[in-house]
Amino acid sequence: MRLSRFFLPILKENPKEAEIVSHRLMLRAGMIRQQAAGIYSFLPLGKRVLDKVCAIIREEQDRSGAIELLMPTIQSADLWRESGRYEAYGKEMLRIADRHERELLFGPTNEEMVTDIFRSSVRSYKDLPLNLYHIQWKFRDEVRPRFGVMRSREFLMKDAYSFDLDFEAAQIAYHRMFVAYLRTFARCGLQAIPMRADTGPIGGNLSHEFIILASTGESEVFCHRDFLGLTVPGEDVDFADAGALAAIVRDWTTPYAATDEMHDTAAWDALSADDRLAARGIEVGHIFYFGTKYSEPMNAVVTGPDGKDVPVHMGSYGIGPSRLLAAIIEASHDEAGIVWPKSVAPFDVGLINMKPGDADCDAACETLYAELGRAGLDVLYDDQDTRAGAKFATMDLIGLPVQVIVGPRGAKAGEAEIKLRATGERETIPLAAVAARVAA
Ligand code: ATP
Ligand code: MG
Repeated sequence: MRLSRFFLPILKENPKEAEIVSHRLMLRAGMIRQQAAGIYSFLPLGKRVLDKVCAIIREEQDRSGAIELLMPTIQSADLWRESGRYEAYGKEMLRIADRHERELLFGPTNEEMVTDIFRSSVRSYKDLPLNLYHIQWKFRDEVRPRFGVMRSREFLMKDAYSFDLDFEAAQIAYHRMFVAYLRTFARCGLQAIPMRADTGPIGGNLSHEFIILASTGESEVFCHRDFLGLTVPGEDVDFADAGALAAIVRDWTTPYAATDEMHDTAAWDALSADDRLAARGIEVGHIFYFGTKYSEPMNAVVTGPDGKDVPVHMGSYGIGPSRLLAAIIEASHDEAGIVWPKSVAPFDVGLINMKPGDADCDAACETLYAELGRAGLDVLYDDQDTRAGAKFATMDLIGLPVQVIVGPRGAKAGEAEIKLRATGERETIPLAAVAARVAA
């Protein structure tokens, strides 16, 4: 992509409304634009990162055996009356009437709808386990939308729903998602810590929030330092091996970890001061088992091996990809701007032509642009006739992992400079070696 043809509305000044660094940097880097309170457009740079994050989420959901579908954003109020949540949900729900005065709503979540899909066609325990997910926009009329896409009213959510015959099978489904989440967040360059969450009337211990430690996080969290040293399961993890999954979950739930709502001061005080990590955190995912809470009132039953009909045991598993973008920036930035982890960067490399119009520079850059593209890299080529300082500032701000800088003197000598965004390390190498080096 040539910068001269791209749409990258960079802001030079710090926007006054942004209270936290991710919001400020997303606005400044031209990733998002607010359209109404808590409602954002994702501009091209933001859309590219959102797509990368969603691709990782999809791969890990699919790997774990979940199956993608797509449910609508608009739902009928009647469906929510069946579960009793239409009235109970309160003011966070955006209620809508169509021209026939039929009551609709903009979905804040999809338990009712997916339960309806399930009951319309699944009859037997032989069709289980089943886990259906989608990635779809949600609307929640948050009292205080703030921090940009971190807490917005319209936001993207990956929500998965598992269906099983009994508690034991549902627990395996829960473990599968738990492990998929560990892998998903690690691939996004994040260290997410699963923390016990409230199970309310359901009871048990099958509810975890996945938390990223960040000083700007909205929740107060407490965990054991051991989490920082745990290894995330590799891509060879066997999702058919219930024992292996349970062992991973055990390792990741043994050290102490809780948000303030679940904090157990006695257990905390029993830890040595060195092991205690009290911090602030951002919730990027939440998984929980809720048994037959929806299947019972909505009559989602299967015939078990004994020929009797039983309501299915369900769980739901959410990740907020739009919030994740902000969380990644909170975790990875410096004074100059965003520092994208490679896996989610909007482009792999930024190619900077220091002097467009200079024959050597133009020729070297055109060759590099083509070569880098052929090496399978996404390149943002700054071919614009602007000041050197502005070019560097923009590249640093948008945070592409690698920059390739071509100036007139270097181009004449057949060289380019490579700069790694994360460390600032620079090296001059022959033009002919650039593509192979950057692709490595
Ligand atoms: P929170 O406590 O932050 O309001 P929640 O408990 O309401 O979150 P869930 O219903 O579990 O969230 O939704 C699943 C995921 O969706 C969350 O873990 C989060 O990543 C994302 N999410 C929820 N609300 C928002 C929001 N207002 N803006 C952006 N992402 C959100
Ligand atoms: Mg909420």
